[in-house]
Amino acid sequence: MPVSTVSIAVGQWFTTGEGVRWWFDSGSFALDFAYTGQIGGLRTDEQLHAPDDLTRWLHERFPMPVGAARSRDLFDAVALRDAISRMAVAASQGEAVRAADVDLVNLYAATPDIPPSLLGGTRQAGRSVQTVAQALSTIARDAVDLFGPANAERIRCCSSGDCEVVYLDTSRAASRRWCSMQRCGNRAKVRAHRARKAGRVAA
Ligand SMILES: [Zn+2]
Repeated sequence: MPVSTVSIAVGQWFTTGEGVRWWFDSGSFALDFAYTGQIGGLRTDEQLHAPDDLTRWLHERFPMPVGAARSRDLFDAVALRDAISRMAVAASQGEAVRAADVDLVNLYAATPDIPPSLLGGTRQAGRSVQTVAQALSTIARDAVDLFGPANAERIRCCSSGDCEVVYLDTSRAASRRWCSMQRCGNRAKVRAHRARKAGRVAA
């Protein structure tokens, strides 16, 4: 999926609730980043405790080399992430996002991001190391896309009542209902089946 200028894969494995491991396609790279911490009512473990955690996350996610994070980068990353989280939760509930969070995302998006590049030149692509600040800018620019008018009504909460997972619905018909079919979709199907069965028995 294109993220501003560079192409980055979206989605991650989660272990929540009863220790069940499940694949979560958030639909957005900026949302994936938001899930490195607490977002909405979903209890996810904080992943960014130290600068090294941020370095690792960026290394895993960005196809090009990104330099090591320092304390200041971690501070910036968490501030950006928490703004994205609050905006995503607000948008999923049809509420207005906070102007201060918009300012924060815009601030990071306004700094230089990781530039796109082609293979096949005389200088080997991928040789230069990008800075953490550039990576954060790329994430912020993806957040600008995420919260832009094209995705109005597409940032939603899982339809299962007890699940608070927020995602971007990228389906063509805007018909996605679940955080994951495997996790909530199937549970809801089973419940509906039982309810129908119980209804028949009662009748
Ligand atoms: Zn769910």
